[in-house]
Amino acid sequence: MALIVHKYGGTSMGSTERIRSVAQRVAKWARAGHQMVVVPSAMSGETNRLLGLAKELMPNASTPEALRELDAVAATGEQVSVGLLALALQAQGVPAVSYGGWQVAIETDSAFTKARISRIDDVKVRADLAAGKVVIITGFQGIDADGNVTTLGRGGSDTSAVAVAAALKADECLIYTDVDGVYTTDPRIVPEARRLSTISFEEMLEMASLGSKVLQIRSVEFAGKYRVPLRVLSSFTPWDIAIEEEAASGTLITFEEDEKMEKAVVAGIAFNRDEAKISVIGVPDRPGIAFSILGPVAEANIDIDVIIQNVSHDGRTDFSFTVPRNDYARTMDVLRTKVQPVIGAADLRGDAKICKVSIVGIGMRSHVGVASKMFRTLSEEGINIQMITTSEIKTSVVLDEKYMELAVRALHKAFGLDQEAVAAA
Ligand code: ASP
Ligand code: MG
Repeated sequence: MALIVHKYGGTSMGSTERIRSVAQRVAKWARAGHQMVVVPSAMSGETNRLLGLAKELMPNASTPEALRELDAVAATGEQVSVGLLALALQAQGVPAVSYGGWQVAIETDSAFTKARISRIDDVKVRADLAAGKVVIITGFQGIDADGNVTTLGRGGSDTSAVAVAAALKADECLIYTDVDGVYTTDPRIVPEARRLSTISFEEMLEMASLGSKVLQIRSVEFAGKYRVPLRVLSSFTPWDIAIEEEAASGTLITFEEDEKMEKAVVAGIAFNRDEAKISVIGVPDRPGIAFSILGPVAEANIDIDVIIQNVSHDGRTDFSFTVPRNDYARTMDVLRTKVQPVIGAADLRGDAKICKVSIVGIGMRSHVGVASKMFRTLSEEGINIQMITTSEIKTSVVLDEKYMELAVRALHKAFGLDQEAVAAA
């Protein structure tokens, strides 16, 4: 007997028919003798619908008071899901009880719309499990120290599930979703993309932060910190397939020392179009200049990603960086009003039509020539690289947005990702 956490995404919970099928699947696990905790998302489209209603009444909610109410509204989607799923289980003769995040309680800070979990009280859940009940807990929501309902940010149910699994020291956390695992890249762009049977936690963290949307990044951080065994798998397999088959499907997130890991140098290719590039041209090259430019940007709460500074000519240099595309106009504004007049830059140039393409793999630590192979591949396709950034296990390039799909396809092929992984030497 094991303690298992299942998480079901919005599509898996998309209709009463689908909820019934989720209940049948969960019942199968419970009848096999496992202690079951289930964390569902809101029914698909529901969170968007709720936030849309809120937006009609307040287009730009941004005060803490308004954000509190956004969370009060958005959290109801999951509230409906847990109740319906508990009913579906009870209708099949399986004892089940549902809880909102506030009832458990899943305690968070007060950062409405992006709260962080601080503690989970597991007393009630353990008592229910001991009494043979399936426990169903809302994803996405928690409660702050003042008793306010909070939410964990879009996609936050993944994090709820992993946090619950960590608190209960579950044997495994299974994330059921509408794809059947983690792929080498998005199969919509590269049809040859392959499902990975395993991916290391660090690679998954990079993939999630670089644009892969399979798991919310915080859930991966949580899994790493508490070493929660995590598997991403499809909720579209027939509910009555054998448990052993189901438990071995999808993608297992492993820790590096694991034997089971695939040994490819590059595990996957991530990409996103969520950034914009800004260049501050002709700035004096002296100590403190990076701070004079980026300080005011950071103060405006804008995340800075890739940064490059060129060698200087005649004491002047160019400074480029990327910011989230949503913050592009605001950043230009900050630079125009708070930076340019102070440092006397010659010009400001912006380009919102860029993309970032990244190769990710822990094999990059021990293999040379991986980045150069990336650059050669792009040059053979005639694609100009605008910026480069690297870490131990990834290399990212900033390109003109129009080359994104071509670049991803060429790199996927060049690194042999369409073939079954072979053991690296
Ligand atoms: N329902 C929330 C959302 O749509 C949380 C989740 O699905 O993970 O973002
Ligand atoms: Mg999701």
